[in-house]
Amino acid sequence: MRGQLDKILALQQALDELQSAEAQLAGIPDWMEELHAEHSTARAEIDELEAVVEGARRERQEAEAVVADSQEKLKHFQEQISLVRNQREYGALLQEIDQVKDLIRRSEEEGLAALERQEEAQQPLADRRGGFSELDERYRKALEQWETEKPAVAEQAESLKGTIEELRQQLPPNLLLRFDRIRERYGGQALAEIKGLERGRMPKIWHCAECNYRVRPQVVMQILNEGSVVLCDSCKRILYLPPEEQGT
Ligand SMILES: [Zn+2]
Repeated sequence: MRGQLDKILALQQALDELQSAEAQLAGIPDWMEELHAEHSTARAEIDELEAVVEGARRERQEAEAVVADSQEKLKHFQEQISLVRNQREYGALLQEIDQVKDLIRRSEEEGLAALERQEEAQQPLADRRGGFSELDERYRKALEQWETEKPAVAEQAESLKGTIEELRQQLPPNLLLRFDRIRERYGGQALAEIKGLERGRMPKIWHCAECNYRVRPQVVMQILNEGSVVLCDSCKRILYLPPEEQGT
């Protein structure tokens, strides 16, 4: 390796790979992401429809219970009609009867509406469930596959930790401290690419790909020839030249 910049680049890369490996070990691997999203969405849709069916079923049951209960009351009131002793009692009883009839009518309507909602959700629920079993099976197989791959990823993570430790020991403490602070500031990424802008026969114009600030040609040469660690004047990330820019 030539210069400290190469070591910094290797360290950043190892840290990125370790982060990715650890994220996969804590969750699912990259190759499962699409399937996982598809599976979760389908599962959520089924759950939602099940909740609609169940909610409507319960509402219908409640409405039916109110109807049954009110019909008992109505029967009781109607039996009392022959027992009233005066006009006032009769009027009051008729009012009770009207109220309970009204409640029966409303509850029946509510029960019907709930039944309709229940039936409307049942077909899409059946369709979703039908399609889901195949997806679920694929997902289960992928999880099994992932279980067989996990040990290798865990091993890779361990080896990366070793690499990271080695590289850190090879770098001067003050540079390491600076590197860690920049990473902390920029969500784990301490590096910024230098981009060159072609201008025909004129020399390229260089700038930091992260913040777009100009990078002086001397700095580019210093990085290219000596592998020096130089920070962007503006965003203070460590600058590097990607391979496609190194031919110039
Ligand atoms: Zn910058």
